[in-house]
Amino acid sequence: MTTEIKVLGTRGSVTTTRTKSGEPTRLFGGDTTSYVIQNGSDPIMVDMGTGSRFYGEGPLRMMAVFTHAHPDHVAGLGDFTPAYIPVSDIEIRASPEHLESIALQYDAAGQVFPAGPNDFMKGIKRIAPIEKRWSYGDLEIESFPLNHPMGCYGYLISGEDGRVGIFADHEHERDLKKIGPEDSAIMKKMEGCDVAFVDGAYLPQEYDPKQVGYEGVLRVGWGHGVDIKAARMALEAGVGRVYITHHSQEHGDTMMLNREREIRKILGTDRVSFARQGEKILLAPILNANFNV
Ligand SMILES: [Zn+2]
Ligand SMILES: [Zn+2]
Repeated sequence: MTTEIKVLGTRGSVTTTRTKSGEPTRLFGGDTTSYVIQNGSDPIMVDMGTGSRFYGEGPLRMMAVFTHAHPDHVAGLGDFTPAYIPVSDIEIRASPEHLESIALQYDAAGQVFPAGPNDFMKGIKRIAPIEKRWSYGDLEIESFPLNHPMGCYGYLISGEDGRVGIFADHEHERDLKKIGPEDSAIMKKMEGCDVAFVDGAYLPQEYDPKQVGYEGVLRVGWGHGVDIKAARMALEAGVGRVYITHHSQEHGDTMMLNREREIRKILGTDRVSFARQGEKILLAPILNANFNV
């Protein structure tokens, strides 16, 4: 059986049905970050934003690994039906500091959310810190730090069908034209990925307006990347298919379709896409061969 990545949620920060200007966000999705990697054995979910609630109604054996504990990455846990089913066997992994924060958001006292992993979510059988390398079923997982306020971890998940890399939430180095040493270190991790999800929450003018001749709000230091720089880094590192994710809540469908076309034209490849909520990506080497370099 081939390995499949299901994109359950793509939006960053908050869920949305439309932008402030009224443009719909349905095509690329309005739910926040969640992906699941499955290959016939127990699935691995990366992040449980609001998109995770679409995965499974019955008991499940799976591992959920969190990149960090910002609300857009954990808000779906309380809505995840399999976590409440006592015969489920769900393992939760995050860095120790993020586990603490998740526990605070889902504490037994119900201050933020009425139910918590310890008392109510009987299907959660194990809560453990991430390791540098570990395995779950027949998939290998490697963790590494990304650049994001409060910290964030990226993951490389590898199996016999290939490797998927999660590189969000992450802010690259400020200069949009130059690859700096910290960018190169991340690109080293991207090498060998057949599929990579990269943080491209911003347009260049939304990130550092002056750098590209605009006026506006400066978002440097907020922990997110510019679509085209993130994609370029992944392509230069040799990633097979690049999915830009963590979409801004103010990016509507029409604008994103146009921008996707523009990015492909500038970078000269159709191997870059904006991730679409609900899509399934096959991690099979034979498919990679269909894409032009
Ligand atoms: Zn986020
Ligand atoms: Zn974040």
